[in-house]
Amino acid sequence: MKPLPRWDDGRHVVLAGDAAGVVAPASGEGIYYAMLGGRFAASAVALCLKTGDGQALASARKAFLREHGRVFWVLGIMQRFWYASDRRRERFVSMCRDRDVQQLTFDAYMNKRLVRARPLAHVRIFFKDVAHLLGLARV
Ligand SMILES: Cc1cc2nc3c(=O)[nH]c(=O)nc-3n(C[C@H](O)[C@H](O)[C@H](O)COP(=O)(O)OP(=O)(O)OC[C@H]3O[C@@H](n4cnc5c(N)ncnc54)[C@H](O)[C@@H]3O)c2cc1C
Repeated sequence: MKPLPRWDDGRHVVLAGDAAGVVAPASGEGIYYAMLGGRFAASAVALCLKTGDGQALASARKAFLREHGRVFWVLGIMQRFWYASDRRRERFVSMCRDRDVQQLTFDAYMNKRLVRARPLAHVRIFFKDVAHLLGLARV
């Protein structure tokens, strides 16, 4: 799933959660994003009621993507690549045994941000990725 191109009809309706498509690609995490999306939808409805302008409903999607659009984009690329076949999925799973991958994933989950703090870990993961892609690493 991925965020739908529109979450509102510009008049009466605004979506949140699974209905809006905000389940993180690759991980399937949707609870946090559904709750956050619900909050943004509520703010958009409040603005719509205050101003009488149905276009205000679009602010829910804008606010969500401003905060999490990049994470969804990166996870979308990961999903497209690593979930493309059973073989790649197996490799993706075996990469998750790696301590660097586990630490970065944990930090990213907890903070809901892409983690840049440990450049060396990124370099190590890059080379391990390449080894998996070339079939040089054990599954
Ligand atoms: C098997 C599975 C495992 C998952 N594991 C995780 C996980 O570990 N971590 C995580 O973050 N996310 C996980 N997710 C995703 C997460 O559950 C969803 O993204 C999240 O629950 C979406 O919340 P929501 O409020 O949008 O929708 P929902 O939680 O689906 O709530 C929608 C509600 O609307 C009700 N409803 C539907 N139609 C009507 C109607 N016509 N009238 C009245 N009520 C109606 C439904 O009964 C439901 O209670 C998982 C999903 C699945 C399927």
